[in-house]
Amino acid sequence: MVKETTYYDILGVKPTCTSDELKKAYRKLALKYHPDKNPNEGEKFKQISQAYEVLSNPDKRRIYDQGGEQSLKEGGVGASGFSSPMDLFDMFFGGGFSGGRRGRGRERKGKDVIHQLSVTLEELYRGAVRKLALQKNVICDKCEGRGGKKGAVQTCPTCRGTGFQIQMQQLAPGMIHQVQGACSECRGQGEIIDPKDRCKVCQGRKTVRDRKILEVHVDKGMTDGQKIVFSGEGDQEPDLEPGDLVLVLDEKEHEIFKRSGNDLIIRLNIELVEALCGFQKVIRTLDERDIVITVLPGEVTKHGEIKCVMNEGMPMYKNPFEKGQLIIQFLVNFPERIPPVVIPALENCLPPRPRIEIPELAEECQLMDLDPEQDARRRGAHHGNAYEEDDDHPGMNRVQCATS
Ligand SMILES: [Zn+2]
Ligand SMILES: [Zn+2]
Repeated sequence: MVKETTYYDILGVKPTCTSDELKKAYRKLALKYHPDKNPNEGEKFKQISQAYEVLSNPDKRRIYDQGGEQSLKEGGVGASGFSSPMDLFDMFFGGGFSGGRRGRGRERKGKDVIHQLSVTLEELYRGAVRKLALQKNVICDKCEGRGGKKGAVQTCPTCRGTGFQIQMQQLAPGMIHQVQGACSECRGQGEIIDPKDRCKVCQGRKTVRDRKILEVHVDKGMTDGQKIVFSGEGDQEPDLEPGDLVLVLDEKEHEIFKRSGNDLIIRLNIELVEALCGFQKVIRTLDERDIVITVLPGEVTKHGEIKCVMNEGMPMYKNPFEKGQLIIQFLVNFPERIPPVVIPALENCLPPRPRIEIPELAEECQLMDLDPEQDARRRGAHHGNAYEEDDDHPGMNRVQCATS
């Protein structure tokens, strides 16, 4: 049972989540709240980053689960103990996305642009071509990225081209504070263009927004979180090599199949008669073929038993003729009631029941139905608000009251 759930709540995951679920949650939120996309959500971006930093580290997660944020602080992971949200983001996505503002050797390259692309399991199984419309900055054709007529661009006299301006602020009489801010004359650009020479198409901005359709090839067997890179398709800026456009795949959950690496997992309900007497089932694959599985009469399938079909899992990336396994877990539907008249016939067919000796002084007890969830709650195995969880599984797994 965890002490507090704030970090889990920030990432929208349960305290029982796996590290993969954690990664997926961070990826989704970090892309959504990255300052490039959501400049006003800096605080949120920071929270997401801190929560992920703690929970993705098994040691820190254990400390947090046991004692909450307070324990982390005592353990030296206070507000100052966190990485910068940008560094964490760059590390997670493999670097360089925050642009050339610090990377050595990247100064001449613009920022990479990163988007998430939601794909179905079917698309990852069969491969797909997706058309993606996106907006990007391109160099203005009209002025060839100069912003105005040839020679119209001049170094800003106010900041002498630096883009910065030192301003004096008087905090109190005799106390003067120097602040460095963007130059007000050129708005930090370091250069100015006379309004009459300014390019009419881009208004002196040098770039214009352009809509572009990209064809994205999703290959068979690609995985959640995999990146597809379009080299040089990021925003264009004058005098900079454009950055890349990076698409990060986000695999949608499938109703029937659950993916585990290259394997696919399904749960199949069978009736008791099928469990005892054998059966056939048809399974529709992700590429819409029907495959038949057979359990011969004489073989018994137990509740919860797991079997597999070779080569019916996900295709391997770059080697799609090889596939993982289809793993099937059988769940036996037991009948609620059996008419007492058929019991003698049934007993005749089944393995004999064991003999029971009841001691003389044995006490007669009444057998009640047990609510497994309520029991788990009493033991404290579940975390969180008991009443809330009740709503998640209305009546599921509950032992039915046999009133008749
Ligand atoms: Zn200036
Ligand atoms: Zn222009």
